[in-house]
Amino acid sequence: MLTVEEVLEQLVGFDTTSRHSNLALIEYVVDLFSQNGIQSTVLENEDKTKANLYASIGPAISGGVMLSGHTDVVPVDDQPWTVPPFTLTKNNNRFYGRGTTDMKGFVACAIVAAVKASQLSLQQPLHVAFSYDEEIGCVGVHSLIKMLKQAPLKPAMCIVGEPTLLKVATKHKGKTAVVAYCTGNEGHSALAPNYQNAIHLASDLVSILRDTQTRIAKDYRGNDKDDIPYTTVHVGRVISTQALNIVPSLCEVHFEIRHPESDVPLRILEDIKSAAQKLVQTASKRFDDISIQFDITNAYPALDTPVSSDVVRFVQSLVDETQTGFVAFGTEGGLFSQAAAIPTVICGPGSMNQGHKPDEYLETSQLQLCEHMLDRLIERLVTSET
Ligand SMILES: [Zn+2]
Repeated sequence: MLTVEEVLEQLVGFDTTSRHSNLALIEYVVDLFSQNGIQSTVLENEDKTKANLYASIGPAISGGVMLSGHTDVVPVDDQPWTVPPFTLTKNNNRFYGRGTTDMKGFVACAIVAAVKASQLSLQQPLHVAFSYDEEIGCVGVHSLIKMLKQAPLKPAMCIVGEPTLLKVATKHKGKTAVVAYCTGNEGHSALAPNYQNAIHLASDLVSILRDTQTRIAKDYRGNDKDDIPYTTVHVGRVISTQALNIVPSLCEVHFEIRHPESDVPLRILEDIKSAAQKLVQTASKRFDDISIQFDITNAYPALDTPVSSDVVRFVQSLVDETQTGFVAFGTEGGLFSQAAAIPTVICGPGSMNQGHKPDEYLETSQLQLCEHMLDRLIERLVTSET
């Protein structure tokens, strides 16, 4: 009998840091599934170095439940690990290793659930969806979303197993990441006032971003209980690399907008762009070739599933919960919900307090509880009680 621990050990053993291929992991799952009569759909990226995997177990009908997880992990570079990150270490009732919490623990449970389900006669299907490149901004899952949008048979609901300590989370913010390229003029620094310094332009843009944040916070009228319920505008990197004795002609400002579902990030970006345009117009009265160009580098939508929806009630019943919550981090859930129109909640083992850190771990009890949740899910699919 295949155990969750064995599968987790295999999964952690694949170094699926986002910059690497995840194909060895995907092949492992495809083989395991095919030994159990489960057919996998593998969706490769353009250069065939990474892939998503989708599989359905049970009757070929619409409905059923989809279990979603990402296979990639964040880097371990420069982190002071005291255990080998790509080997599963069991100690003090914890499983240590990169990805145990975020989120190979859940993926291992989903794989075992699929294998168990393949030996039963389901009334409604169980689906699994494993993606790549989630950790660099929900990039890889798009081909899977496209497939689901066109699929004649769609899951009725989705559980994204990101760590929530197996509480039911119904919402998170969306994110739009932007680079602004500020262009000024190069020149000898001894004659600096004769040129438009691109860093000066960039710092004026940063002031606009900070003013935008202040205005949004001041205007917030809701009563959400989230840590920070309103949209945030955050500058993460400012880059200019010319020599000190050269007036810099280029400066990049990297910023992100994280927003609840009720806010439209492109509208906020439009306001930022028109304020930036005024800066350019002012500078252009004295200098030539001044510009600020904006480029959206990454975006995913927010998730805000109504607490009264069937998926919430159903997943609450699997974990004996009556409450709902939110998560601070982003997930693929917003895409499943908005782009593929599949009602989605987030519910998975472990806590994000251990995610992305050295000596990442998952409590063994959390893994057992997750397996128990999915056992109950399978029972319900057998008796058709979703
Ligand atoms: Zn994750």
